[in-house]
Amino acid sequence: MQRVCAMTSNISSPAFLDTSRPDTPDLVVPQGVVPFYLDNRPVRGRLVRPGVLTDMLLTRHDNPDCVLRLAGEALALVAALASALKFQGSFSLQAKGDGPLSLLLADCTDAGALRFHARSDDEAVAELLKANPNPTASDLLGKGYIAFSVDQGPDTDIHQGIVEISGESLSEMAAHYFATSEQHACWVKLFCDKTEAGWRAGALVMEKIAMGGGIESGVTPEEGEDAWETAITLATTLTAREVLDDRLGSADLLYRLFHAEGLITGQPRALAFGCRCSRARLSSLLETFSLDDLDHIAKDGTITMNCQFCNHDFHFQRSEISGKTA
Ligand SMILES: [Zn+2]
Repeated sequence: MQRVCAMTSNISSPAFLDTSRPDTPDLVVPQGVVPFYLDNRPVRGRLVRPGVLTDMLLTRHDNPDCVLRLAGEALALVAALASALKFQGSFSLQAKGDGPLSLLLADCTDAGALRFHARSDDEAVAELLKANPNPTASDLLGKGYIAFSVDQGPDTDIHQGIVEISGESLSEMAAHYFATSEQHACWVKLFCDKTEAGWRAGALVMEKIAMGGGIESGVTPEEGEDAWETAITLATTLTAREVLDDRLGSADLLYRLFHAEGLITGQPRALAFGCRCSRARLSSLLETFSLDDLDHIAKDGTITMNCQFCNHDFHFQRSEISGKTA
């Protein structure tokens, strides 16, 4: 089976016009991302909870649970970061290592469309689990690098930052990335687990923003630093049980944490199932293959292409595809 990866392609036509799309869940989580800031303090953040969407995204893939758990965290993280995009585009995370999980890709568009792909050696994961039933992100990925990129569409440069994998958890790896690449301090906590309701994930991401100091804002740099430290202390008390429980609203969770710190919540943003594969796109990709390659990948006259992001199989008759004549 031919595996394809259409990671870099951008959306050329709206999904609803594409009648050749596979039957993917039409699911939107309206309050998937809740932005907030703390009034008169140099703190802003986002609480991400994709809810049932997490289960729908993760269970379409047959990677081991410990890999899916990490993928859920990655999805929550890219959802948090994409919600800060000011233009049309997408935010992606790519982790590559020499461990049992050699590749983890997750991306989210400015409109909140999420997808991921994980390439794991499941025998090596099983070996790892024998010795260590709760492997960390570092155990799974091994040595390698983690890249974050912003793609704002055709005719624009892709902005990418790459750092070596450092830290045990994906939260620590992301924090390390921000510490080395951003001008301001960031705090990241990611969650994902299988609950009674299915897979659930979440992210709380905060950044320390610049404030006009002195008389203008009435906040001295020392007071700003204290407010940032207080926000971190409060954020640290957020538990996985709270974040992964659908019965608790995101606004309520933020209120529990920051009600004494001038909490102001913004307009929630939606998250959705976001694969951008299409039969038309795959067909035009196949047309670039040589005749030999097409004959090689065809089985009994049928070419099967699998989308790595939504795990959907597209079937083409070999006779439908002309291929590239050299
Ligand atoms: Zn797909």
